[in-house]
Amino acid sequence: MFSVKAAVWYGHRDVRVEETSRPSASPGHVVVEVRYAGICGTDRHEYVGPVFIPTARPHRLTGKTAPLIIGHEFCGVISEVGDGVTGWHTGDRVTANGTLSCGKCEACLSGRYNVCEKLGFLGVNLNGAFAEYVEVEAARLFRIPDSVPMRDAVLTEPLACGIHATKLMGGVGGQDVVIVGPGIIGIGALLAARHDEARGILVIGVGDLRRELVESLGGSYFDLGVGDPSQAVREWSHGRMADAAYECVGSQAALDSCVSMLKPGGKLMVMGVFEHPPTLRMNDFQEGERRLFTSQAHTSEIQEALDRIEAGEIDVGPLITREVTLDTLVKDGLEELMRNGERHIKVIIDIQEKGAD
Ligand SMILES: [Zn+2]
Ligand SMILES: [Zn+2]
Repeated sequence: MFSVKAAVWYGHRDVRVEETSRPSASPGHVVVEVRYAGICGTDRHEYVGPVFIPTARPHRLTGKTAPLIIGHEFCGVISEVGDGVTGWHTGDRVTANGTLSCGKCEACLSGRYNVCEKLGFLGVNLNGAFAEYVEVEAARLFRIPDSVPMRDAVLTEPLACGIHATKLMGGVGGQDVVIVGPGIIGIGALLAARHDEARGILVIGVGDLRRELVESLGGSYFDLGVGDPSQAVREWSHGRMADAAYECVGSQAALDSCVSMLKPGGKLMVMGVFEHPPTLRMNDFQEGERRLFTSQAHTSEIQEALDRIEAGEIDVGPLITREVTLDTLVKDGLEELMRNGERHIKVIIDIQEKGAD
């Protein structure tokens, strides 16, 4: 049996890089030789979790439990094509949506497979992409344009989240938008809001580390350490307050500050993943007919993210703050994010250790 290297999640803070058997392409699937993978907030949550990785009861869709290979953000080259797959060939440069869905429920049948009733994710509920090879459903693939380097394409998954969330809110064109949390999801929201021609975009974070990046991307920046965020929004918006706020942290404090800065009729988009269940005062919403939205991954938006990179609209280079290999993933990637999470936007894994193409 051909063995390949992969990062396998065994338990809380226990990810082991070891030899595993190489996947083969089942019907409707392809195997991708992974070039780059990205460490997602989800992977960091699972590293210190589990949050969603099934440990006792098998997952409702995949029937799998840990140990599992983690990772769902990746790009690479197709190395094997399963029966029944059309339009994809060995050698194609691809990235993929890591959503796993049943294909039968009402959500799946309407194309909204990201809210499937049996929803799962690659690298959480099935072997994922922090590996030399990953098996993925052909229907979830996206072709990487020739002019887009692999190293850029690996960032499209988190950017797609911002595009999807913005669509769910009915767009933010001409609106005053606040984004709390300048991590990769917040930056993705910023890029999506900018593309949608928001009137103004204010990003709120802790410390000044992200100011330059946010300003270079066309946003304004406010450091939470220097004052009250709702007062800052009042000044920035000339008293109007925010039409829309994106919560991109997953904390009670971030959620509260989003609610405090919304104008009547304003929209709150919750994108953060909460390790502790938050409290929401519904009267704050009802009194001003404020609206609450949530967003779960994305469907076709990776294509839009790729198109925008191809069009030169997004320079993803500055978003990559560290590059590791499979061998250094735990020490210099996952543990580094525990130690110095605020310093990083996106840590990527050079799986083949070939360097940039
Ligand atoms: Zn992700
Ligand atoms: Zn379904």
